[in-house]
Amino acid sequence: MSLITGLHHVTAITGDAQENIDFYTGVLGLRLVKTTVNFDNSEVYHFYFGDEFGTPGTIMTTFPYGKNLANGRHGKGMLNTTAFSLSIDGLDYWLDRLKQFNISYKQPQQRFSGEVFVYLEDFDGLGLELVFNDKDSRKGYYNGFIPSGYAIKGIHHVEIWLDSYERTGALLTQHMDHQLISESSDRFRFGAENLPGKYVDLLCNPSALKGLPGKGTVHHVAFATPDRESQLEMMERLNTLGMQHTEVKDRKYFTSIYFKEPGGGLFEVATSGPGFDVDEELQSLGENLMLPEQFEEKREHLLEVLPKFTYPIEKYK
Ligand code: ZN
Repeated sequence: MSLITGLHHVTAITGDAQENIDFYTGVLGLRLVKTTVNFDNSEVYHFYFGDEFGTPGTIMTTFPYGKNLANGRHGKGMLNTTAFSLSIDGLDYWLDRLKQFNISYKQPQQRFSGEVFVYLEDFDGLGLELVFNDKDSRKGYYNGFIPSGYAIKGIHHVEIWLDSYERTGALLTQHMDHQLISESSDRFRFGAENLPGKYVDLLCNPSALKGLPGKGTVHHVAFATPDRESQLEMMERLNTLGMQHTEVKDRKYFTSIYFKEPGGGLFEVATSGPGFDVDEELQSLGENLMLPEQFEEKREHLLEVLPKFTYPIEKYK
């Protein structure tokens, strides 16, 4: 049985809360599936963006620390690009949409077979890609204005920069149920299956500087595991390897363990459930500040110190 079934989410350090909401729900059209706080730093929001349900493999999450946070630097030992998956015939629509909202992007390029990608950055400089492909049967979220055939279907892959791919590749293939799917020059694509939402690209970039955490960088990538039992089995595997990891942390919508991969990046293994409708109705996900029990008594204070924001966003229709 596979303990790891694909990607779960990517979590980034970002700046202004409203700009985050604008970019991910407005420009990209994802659904805000949860508004909560960073469980390790409750005076900062934790936003979750994804498809209608916040299905594992569709989720981008952010810790918006505010505009004044210093910028990080993309580089080695870091996940520098999170790629979203779109229908192959959506390219022209998306180039027009990015132009419409003055989002700069790099000219479309192609990699592997039949995969067209466009690199762009969010308002904080976080590296993103739109990958147009014909391999993704996921539906995506209909936000009311992006035609449903053109909606983001979820994460396509994540791209991690390393000196060399071997050690992280071995962790993925020998202990995390991945296989080498394809390679070309300095890019090695691993996957829990050969499907969007399940790919990890390791990019060998020995001449790059070391990545530095800060605004516009990824904090960690989470892989999905079916349940608590498979999570404990994964923990046993790490123990056998002598790899340090955290205890199981209750993130309310899933439980998590964290560990450093050999290239220096932070990996998380998160359970696929219970999911985002555990504390609010599916129809109104994300619309209210949801707090875990330990922070409920601080609600008044948090509502005062957390910045106000507007959602949904009219101006991106
Ligand atoms: Zn996480």
